[in-house]
Amino acid sequence: PFTWIAFVVDLSDYKRMEDSLRRRAAELAEADRRKDEFLAMLAHELRNPLAPIRNAVHILHRLVPLLPESQRPLEMIERQTQHLARLVDDLLDVSRVTRGKINLHKLPVDVVALAARVVENHRPSASAHQHTVTSTLPPRPLYVEGDEVRLTQVLDNLLNNANKYTPEGGHIWLTVENGKHEALVSVRDSGIGIAEEDLPGVFDLFSQVDPGIDRARGGLGIGLSLVKRLVEMHGGYVEARSEGHGKGSEFIVHLPLLCATTGPGSVPEGTQ
Ligand code: ADP
Repeated sequence: PFTWIAFVVDLSDYKRMEDSLRRRAAELAEADRRKDEFLAMLAHELRNPLAPIRNAVHILHRLVPLLPESQRPLEMIERQTQHLARLVDDLLDVSRVTRGKINLHKLPVDVVALAARVVENHRPSASAHQHTVTSTLPPRPLYVEGDEVRLTQVLDNLLNNANKYTPEGGHIWLTVENGKHEALVSVRDSGIGIAEEDLPGVFDLFSQVDPGIDRARGGLGIGLSLVKRLVEMHGGYVEARSEGHGKGSEFIVHLPLLCATTGPGSVPEGTQ
């Protein structure tokens, strides 16, 4: 009879533990949902006042072109609001992706042409930091099924980071290659690099490898998480490589080719 009672007590302990774990999991899921809701609301609230501020700056630019001393502060406001707008847009996007609210408008996209456009747009900001930018692109188009706006955003984020985490006078390489069944887009830099132990976490939301350094450079630790999720929504994946601190970093985006079976550079029907 003694062992039977002990067994009953054990079982009821187990049941209590199970109930408490279940309650805890439900609480965590609810906290997570409320955090996502808060982020979405925050991004919306921050975004609303930004448009009128940017419009006002444009108007001021037109109204006071003759006052040379007004140019620098106006340009500074313009730069900073642009930076803020980018952060808020990233925040909005990441909350949309998390809640499954991003719809991709997929069409055949030539990754080579897209990469060429993005790298050209980045040249002015790279040369502001005296960086040399080298792009190596295949001579033929490489088609993937993708959302052009979102794929541009992916490469924009990677090139922004390369620019941001490379000390003045560095080198940035953008390379597109034709893999067996995939297009490979690599963004490499000669910058501060990433320690081996930090590499697996760089794609986590709000992760910043060295918060001390990165606070000074700006950013919220959203960009790479967004890059990863957007690439995955295209059926691809992204990897981060670095030899360590001070040895530069490389981010490689793998995207499935639209016509993987028809050979290199082939163009899908109806896209030429
Ligand atoms: P943010 O740049 O806003 O901090 P990201 O999500 O884009 O956020 O990047 C996360 C972290 O990964 C950065 O804070 C930085 O520590 C590291 N990182 C990203 N790109 C690079 C790079 N090219 N070189 C070195 N570190 C990088």
